[in-house]
Amino acid sequence: MITVLLGPPGVGKGTQAQAAAASQGWMHMSTGEMLRDEVGRGTELGLQADQFMRRGDLVPDDVMVDMVAVRVSQVPSKEVLLLDGFPRTLPQSEALVAKAPSGAIGLSVYFRAPDEVLVQRLLSRGRRDDAREVVRHRLAVYHETTEPLVGFYREQGILREIDADRSIEIIQEDLVRTVQAALEANFLP
Ligand code: ADP
Repeated sequence: MITVLLGPPGVGKGTQAQAAAASQGWMHMSTGEMLRDEVGRGTELGLQADQFMRRGDLVPDDVMVDMVAVRVSQVPSKEVLLLDGFPRTLPQSEALVAKAPSGAIGLSVYFRAPDEVLVQRLLSRGRRDDAREVVRHRLAVYHETTEPLVGFYREQGILREIDADRSIEIIQEDLVRTVQAALEANFLP
């Protein structure tokens, strides 16, 4: 069961996904981490992506779709793959439907927090794309381009919301419970 994690930069979905994957034996794919790894190794793809990431812009859809296509096409239906950072645009979400096994996209979890909380968290994180102007731009890009995906998954009846302005532990319990419930509803007898 592919689980799409949605939410603004700084909302903590990466941290939450990593912890849940480790404790539950779920798979976790973070496109941001994959891109930073490419940048760090100085690959062709990394050099290309770096231009966009520095500015807080999205990496082009075709690059991202190529990056995730094989993994998302191979998810066994009873295994959980937490998708963190993909899709981020409507064309990416449509590409995911096309590449994933039929019926595999079983859940989308939407992490919500107010912008002022996010800005504070991002500025204190200190990653290279977390400088103040870049942060503001990433939030604007999020609201304009990625937030519409909330409606896309809500219309399919698979959206669940999590209040991410709470403690890490409480959010973790909420996430694990939400994924387990969807897994049981969708895939267990
Ligand atoms: P955050 O968790 O703060 O939102 P990520 O680590 O997920 O940041 O992503 C960092 C950067 O990588 C993004 O700002 C964007 O430039 C690029 N990126 C990651 N995933 C995608 C994607 N699916 N489409 C386009 N760009 C992406």
